[in-house]
Amino acid sequence: MAEYNKLTPELIEQLKAIVGDARCLTGDAIGEDYSRDEMPLYGKHMPDALVFVKSTEEVSKIMKLASANKIPVTVRGSGTGLVGGCVPLCGGIVLCTSQMNEILSYDLNNLAVHIQPGVLLQTLAADALAHGLMYPPDPGEKTGTVGGNVSTNAGGMRAVKYGTTRDYVLALTVVLPSGEVMEIGKTVCKTSSGYSLVHLMIGSEGTLGIITELTMKLVPAPKMDMSFIVPYADVASAIAAVPKVKLAGLDPQSIEFMERDIVDSSAAFTGEEAFPPVVNGMEAGAYILVTCVGDNEEQLEQKMFGLAEVAEETGAYDVLVVDSSRKEKVWAARSAFLTAIEADTKIMDEMDVVVPVERIADFLNYVHEVGDEHKMRIRSFGHAGDGNLHIYVCSNEMEREEFLEKSKPVMDACYAKCKEFGGQVSGEHAIGHAKKEYLRDSVGETAYGLMGAIKKVFDPDGILNPGKVCHDI
Ligand SMILES: Cc1cc2nc3c(=O)[nH]c(=O)nc-3n(C[C@H](O)[C@H](O)[C@H](O)COP(=O)(O)OP(=O)(O)OC[C@H]3O[C@@H](n4cnc5c(N)ncnc54)[C@H](O)[C@@H]3O)c2cc1C
Repeated sequence: MAEYNKLTPELIEQLKAIVGDARCLTGDAIGEDYSRDEMPLYGKHMPDALVFVKSTEEVSKIMKLASANKIPVTVRGSGTGLVGGCVPLCGGIVLCTSQMNEILSYDLNNLAVHIQPGVLLQTLAADALAHGLMYPPDPGEKTGTVGGNVSTNAGGMRAVKYGTTRDYVLALTVVLPSGEVMEIGKTVCKTSSGYSLVHLMIGSEGTLGIITELTMKLVPAPKMDMSFIVPYADVASAIAAVPKVKLAGLDPQSIEFMERDIVDSSAAFTGEEAFPPVVNGMEAGAYILVTCVGDNEEQLEQKMFGLAEVAEETGAYDVLVVDSSRKEKVWAARSAFLTAIEADTKIMDEMDVVVPVERIADFLNYVHEVGDEHKMRIRSFGHAGDGNLHIYVCSNEMEREEFLEKSKPVMDACYAKCKEFGGQVSGEHAIGHAKKEYLRDSVGETAYGLMGAIKKVFDPDGILNPGKVCHDI
């Protein structure tokens, strides 16, 4: 059991001496938001001090103070996480990077950008585009920080073609729990230079070190893109088309799937019917939304013909081109799925599992069966192209305790099925403290023990983000 010291008035004075009074809040001055992330079900814990940092030097000084006094520190970007990752389970200091939000420089010869961790995803994406470049990772929540995205290895819709955040990190400045500053990685295209500490930091959820600067890779922006809605009778036929779309050489940027009920909820929420419920006189039960990129209209037309062939072969009702007049509406509807679920749900838990693509339909059928058996409402959507499913177990009737008791067997059964199907606990939202036991069960004692041993090497006193990923408190 980890033991920590309390943040005394003297230590708070020392924190204020590092960042100034205005950037070190305590007591009632700390808003409730800082006690949680976007999944309040996983618990709320107030920090004893909330500190807004502005430089690597400040972070280093704070960590030296925290490690000398055994004070827990939890890093927070925007707090948009979905696994309780930035929640200060043991109180102490929440160190927020939101004011470290500068794009420092572009290296156009090497297609790279050097930034601070609190730059928002939407800011980096727009700024890169203004330089004719694209930052490919595209998680749904655009107000997350890039530091948070790297720390969770965020995914998003474009992972099918471009990969995840991991594939765009070239170099990092990291402050270790001791306060020592470490530079890892370089702005080069390849490396075989010892253990990759860069890749160890990516997805480590603020448990090994604090990322204070990042060099991220960019790519030339494609000239145009086009999306297509392909409606099917049911989710099994929709998913069966996915490997065929990939094999047809269309190189899609994204292939999303959505079941009819989530589309209906989204339409009710946004007031816009972006996905037609009836196509050529037939009720659609599920859809795939395919986006392709190209340099000119001919290229995209060729891809459209290829997709139409796959659609016909797989029993689709049609291929509907999302023209410029409908583009905004369709993507607004897609982006509103989680918000639409939240809007008509009192309490919910979520899974972000990833399964082999050909098992998606079987997995979804299983989840619905288990949900019915336990009288739980299930909502789902996800990234069909890479097997990453977002599944929500919802209730409008239950209070927290009853919900936790009744949703647990559903979650347990689904994670067990995911393991049986050769899947992973999280495709992109990470582990935090909410999914720790499922991670342990999934990877096994040897791998889980090794993760714990790595944590100990970086952070022997367990002061950085205690209780997360593989650390017990
Ligand atoms: C509506 C909605 C849609 C979403 N869609 C997606 C999606 O499509 N794909 C996806 O992957 N995620 C998605 N998310 C989840 C979330 O946006 C991501 O997990 C994101 O990466 C979190 O960034 P953040 O800045 O909010 O981090 P926080 O929530 O503040 O922190 C997340 C974790 O990163 C750590 N951390 C943050 N900054 C640093 C740093 N500088 N150094 C070290 N550790 C740090 C924290 O300690 C914590 O463990 C969605 C969330 C919402 C609410």
